[in-house]
Amino acid sequence: MNSTMPGLVNYALAPHSVELRDMPLPQIGEKDVLLKVGAVSICGSDLHQWLGGISWTVNYPCILGHEVGGTIVESGKAVKRFKAGDRVVSETAAVIDENSPYTRKGLYNLDPNRLGFGYGVHGAMTQYVKVPERCLHSIPGGLSFEKAALTEPCSVAYNAVCVNGHVRPGDHVLVIGPGPIGLLCALMAKLNGAGHLIVCGLPADAKRLAVARQLGAHAALDGGVMEYIKELGDGFGVDVVIEATGVSIGLQLAMQAVRPAGQIVKVGWGPQPLGYSLDPLVQKAVTLQGSFSHNWPIWERVLSMIASGQLDLEPVIHRVARLEDWEECFHKMHSGEYVKAILKPNGD
Ligand SMILES: [Zn+2]
Repeated sequence: MNSTMPGLVNYALAPHSVELRDMPLPQIGEKDVLLKVGAVSICGSDLHQWLGGISWTVNYPCILGHEVGGTIVESGKAVKRFKAGDRVVSETAAVIDENSPYTRKGLYNLDPNRLGFGYGVHGAMTQYVKVPERCLHSIPGGLSFEKAALTEPCSVAYNAVCVNGHVRPGDHVLVIGPGPIGLLCALMAKLNGAGHLIVCGLPADAKRLAVARQLGAHAALDGGVMEYIKELGDGFGVDVVIEATGVSIGLQLAMQAVRPAGQIVKVGWGPQPLGYSLDPLVQKAVTLQGSFSHNWPIWERVLSMIASGQLDLEPVIHRVARLEDWEECFHKMHSGEYVKAILKPNGD
């Protein structure tokens, strides 16, 4: 092993402050493993850090990447359940307060002191990453690193639709925003038996809306959402809206589209102020539910769903590339040409 490795580093808040740098190999502690990265997929949040305008704090300079699967090459003295050679995926909560009431409830994703890979500590867009044993899950059988790396965004979607959200069979569901998280939320809603599943975006989202149809959406719209919903069923609106854009107009549309006593799950986030009244929430007695990240039981569930094929990820994987080709992948994910691009920093 060399003493340095190429890492994709986010070094400042200014837009496009991301570059490949020579980085030192991580030193692991007693409770950590050293993971050789098999595949790391690009997240919308990696793109946000690249483009600037984020609502979280980054420990600059920081190697990007938190959607990762790989092989353990070294394990610390206190590591009990894993050993060198094991194929694993890693959760994202790299640093948590073990004594926080949220950690003790298993909701360490909501621990305010939590630091994640790719912004709080060095992430996985490199060859080797240091991971605490606590974060690891075994990759079942022959599941590829590329698909296993998508456990993270699928867990975000599972938490939004199946834990914080309550999509029941027959519910009419609207997903606003056909980015990777929106599309994976649509997939989860479909699995939950959504009666009529609508995904909406902008005319520029044509490719992603085509993927939404492939995933089983009954309608994938680039406009005319309210007209469509007024014709649906009794015309009162959809039972559940998943807001996956993070821009304020998304929540406004959600409030219009949801039926009285329905639910809005907000999984998209961004710093934009609202600029409109929240009165429709009151008038319609709507539940507005936030959803953030995921925890251990969700990861176990989602991994088994991917391994069994119940969660078919083929339609969302549009590119598998070398780390050197990161910039093209970032651009094409941002433009909507790729839903998900996956990097393999160690080659095949
Ligand atoms: Zn992610």
